[in-house]
Amino acid sequence: AHGRKIGPDPASIHSAMIGGIAANNASGMCCGTDQNSYRTLKSMRVVLADGSLLDTGSTESRDAFAKSRPDLLEGVKRLSEQVRGNPELSELIHRKYKIKNTTGYSLNALLDFEDPFEILEHLMIGSEGTLGFIAEITYHTVPEPEFKSTAFLLFPNLVEACATVAELRGKGVQAVELIDRTGLRSVENQSGAPETIRNLGDDACALLVECAAETENERSLKQAAVEKVLADCSLLEPADFRTDPKESEALWKLRKGLFPSVGSVRETGSTVVIEDVAVQIESLAELAGSLQQLFRKHGYEKAVIFGHALEGNLHFVFTPDFNLPEEV
Ligand SMILES: Cc1cc2nc3c(=O)[nH]c(=O)nc-3n(C[C@H](O)[C@H](O)[C@H](O)COP(=O)(O)OP(=O)(O)OC[C@H]3O[C@@H](n4cnc5c(N)ncnc54)[C@H](O)[C@@H]3O)c2cc1C
Repeated sequence: AHGRKIGPDPASIHSAMIGGIAANNASGMCCGTDQNSYRTLKSMRVVLADGSLLDTGSTESRDAFAKSRPDLLEGVKRLSEQVRGNPELSELIHRKYKIKNTTGYSLNALLDFEDPFEILEHLMIGSEGTLGFIAEITYHTVPEPEFKSTAFLLFPNLVEACATVAELRGKGVQAVELIDRTGLRSVENQSGAPETIRNLGDDACALLVECAAETENERSLKQAAVEKVLADCSLLEPADFRTDPKESEALWKLRKGLFPSVGSVRETGSTVVIEDVAVQIESLAELAGSLQQLFRKHGYEKAVIFGHALEGNLHFVFTPDFNLPEEV
């Protein structure tokens, strides 16, 4: 109602808690790396393993903490200085955290901030509960654009779809989500699924693309920029942007429910294994192509590739049966 929302928007948002979202540095469809918990954190109330409490939004709490845990603040400062003094390590951290890398601690905090309180609270993001308990968190909110248009684009293959993602970046899209052919099969019978996906070739791939803006005029300009890029692509059918929120929601439901859908159509007794990899957007097509080759080579033809293509971030899911010795 206020046209604002929190930045992180994982597909699990209706069941996840804020503590879990912050402790995982979960992002989502629109959030990317600009609006995640790390980037939108305002302050945090945290309880450390020794029971000490720190509210980084309160001057009194900071002062008290500086008196009770000077060792910790000095240690954090020292770590930061060590990293800054090591150009090779600094460069590696800058490079790794430019992509949607949420694996391990937010080591970029050691470079991004000098104030030990700011370093500490940002290290908590993505620490999966290992550094302390996040009791409260205050975020800077981000705009929730009112005007949106969504299209479900079909491509002849995964590599062409990925190559288009790189072209779309910076052209007014707020989200580009990829679903490969196997993923499409797992959702093709759900309500709201475009009928055409049942009759696609074996290599087809979909991109769910959304343009969003705070005015209708701005939205249509963004959509036009996207359509211009798409005019040079080999789409299986013309791009059909939908502005009715109900139709958009139905398309998003397919994408957000994909992981549970894949799980539900697997063979009884098998296990769902999901992985999460991120690369620079320019390498996305190569990543997708290589993954597909690996699956074919090792006999995982039913593996599904999907994810936050705009951020160079793909998931792959496969369902081995660990009752079989050759799968273990
Ligand atoms: C269907 C599905 C879709 C998903 N989609 C996305 C997506 O689009 N993008 C994305 O980034 N992620 C996604 N995720 C993963 C996402 O990161 C998690 O769903 C979410 O962050 C977990 O929140 P939770 O409250 O369930 O945390 P939990 O699973 O309960 O906890 C997660 C971790 O945080 C720690 N933790 C929890 N609360 C606190 C606290 N208060 N203080 C300190 N540590 C704490 C826990 O110890 C644990 O290590 C998805 C997951 C699922 C199942």
